[in-house]
Amino acid sequence: MADLRELYQELILEHSKAPRNYRELRDANGKAEGYNPLCGDRFSVSVQVQGDSIADIAFQGSGCAISKASASMMTQSVKGKTREEARKLFEHFHRTVTGKQNGSSDLGKLAVFAGVAEFPTRVKCATLAWHTLQAALEGKPEAVSTE
Ligand code: ZN
Repeated sequence: MADLRELYQELILEHSKAPRNYRELRDANGKAEGYNPLCGDRFSVSVQVQGDSIADIAFQGSGCAISKASASMMTQSVKGKTREEARKLFEHFHRTVTGKQNGSSDLGKLAVFAGVAEFPTRVKCATLAWHTLQAALEGKPEAVSTE
């Protein structure tokens, strides 16, 4: 288990150092800002929705390793999914990082964040990008705050 945990930490570190989809999205049709005052994490998430699917997604901003890695892996996980699939994935992810559900294979790589459940103050770091994505998909450009 200790080895597995190290592997998880490596994945989070790797994504925080080299975040995926970290760029401006020129043809975005949905965008929102998210802020976690507890930690100082601040990100914007942009989506390009075609029909009901997230055709493209990108994020920018700054924050701790967990928030950045979570945003990076979130963009990878929801690209190509429908709004409903993304919402369900977030619910599943949220239950996992709050310890209400054990990580399962449905989450894929996102299961690495299951360890966050042991650190309640980090839950907001891990979920910030997801809350911001929901706001972007719902067309609520005003800043979302985890508080
Ligand atoms: Zn944070």
